[in-house]
Amino acid sequence: MQYFSEIKGEIFKNKSLAPLTWFKVGGPAEYLFTPEDKTDLIQFIKKYPSHFPKMVIGAGSNLLIREGGLSGVVISMKNLNTINLNGENIYAETGALDMSIARKASMMGLSGLEFLIGIPGTIGGGIKMNAGSYGSEIKDILIDVEVIDNSGSVFHVSQKELKLEYRKNNSPKDWIFLSCNLKGVKSQTSIVRTKMKEIINDRKNNQPINQLTGGSTFKNPKKLKSWKLIDEAGCRGLVLGNAKVSEKHCNFLINNGNALSSDIEDLGEIVRNRVFDETGIGLEWEIVRVGKKVHIKREGSYE
Ligand SMILES: Cc1cc2nc3c(=O)[nH]c(=O)nc-3n(C[C@H](O)[C@H](O)[C@H](O)COP(=O)(O)OP(=O)(O)OC[C@H]3O[C@@H](n4cnc5c(N)ncnc54)[C@H](O)[C@@H]3O)c2cc1C
Repeated sequence: MQYFSEIKGEIFKNKSLAPLTWFKVGGPAEYLFTPEDKTDLIQFIKKYPSHFPKMVIGAGSNLLIREGGLSGVVISMKNLNTINLNGENIYAETGALDMSIARKASMMGLSGLEFLIGIPGTIGGGIKMNAGSYGSEIKDILIDVEVIDNSGSVFHVSQKELKLEYRKNNSPKDWIFLSCNLKGVKSQTSIVRTKMKEIINDRKNNQPINQLTGGSTFKNPKKLKSWKLIDEAGCRGLVLGNAKVSEKHCNFLINNGNALSSDIEDLGEIVRNRVFDETGIGLEWEIVRVGKKVHIKREGSYE
């Protein structure tokens, strides 16, 4: 592809995306581009036709990629991982891991970012999802974001302009987040570390964090908990093919090892239907599902 002629990063054709996601399922990207740095990415976007398909991937911790894969280019942000401290603010490129930002903040005794220690994504994915936990969300700590749009224009927007809601970012879909400024509050390293340890322990006890999963499958409906609705609908431990509803936290779907992407997605739909039949509530997917659907014969049915 001519648009890759002057890039410095890596480019692969027909590259499987499964290893780049937590679920470890899914088909290939027509092109997988890993820019060497921010300038490399900006130069590429300026040349790449705005109507051609493209998608960004962070840590792949909230993504279910279908077997048919993705046309166009998938851009991995993993090399855009600079984190700099600036007083009580933190500058981070959006491929930086939430956990790395939390650790850096704790070293400087900055409080407010502890919740990031438990979110296994990048800060770019966090901004896109308005990720959150333990009573905090990205919206609370975000000052502004550097963006590149489809036309290749680079500009800054404030947190308010993103119109963040619960697990939702209302900014234009073509925006790629390049870097951001985050704010903390001066505290003490020991206090911040204690809070982070509590979060880590709580997650170990209550979530299947060592399994192939995409985190919370469905958003919580207002004033309700999805896991509770799923449990009450009798879906805890439900199996389809090689996918399973986690016994430990039933808003998590698990790839037992050889699951197809469609096992996971179809199991999610069965759960949605059962919850709807039981309660009349339509659960909304939090996991981002992308790629072409293809029909692959599955072994067995659900039990
Ligand atoms: C074990 C586990 C626990 C989890 N716990 C939580 C939790 O407590 N709270 C929570 O909110 N989430 C949680 N998640 C979900 C997930 O970690 C978050 O949504 C995270 O913010 C996703 O970041 P990512 O880099 O992995 O994004 P990806 O999964 O790679 O992508 C998600 C979406 O963001 C877009 N995106 C990624 N980077 C950019 C960018 N730079 N610019 C524009 N768009 C971008 C992608 O195109 C995609 O649409 C959990 C997941 C797992 C596996």
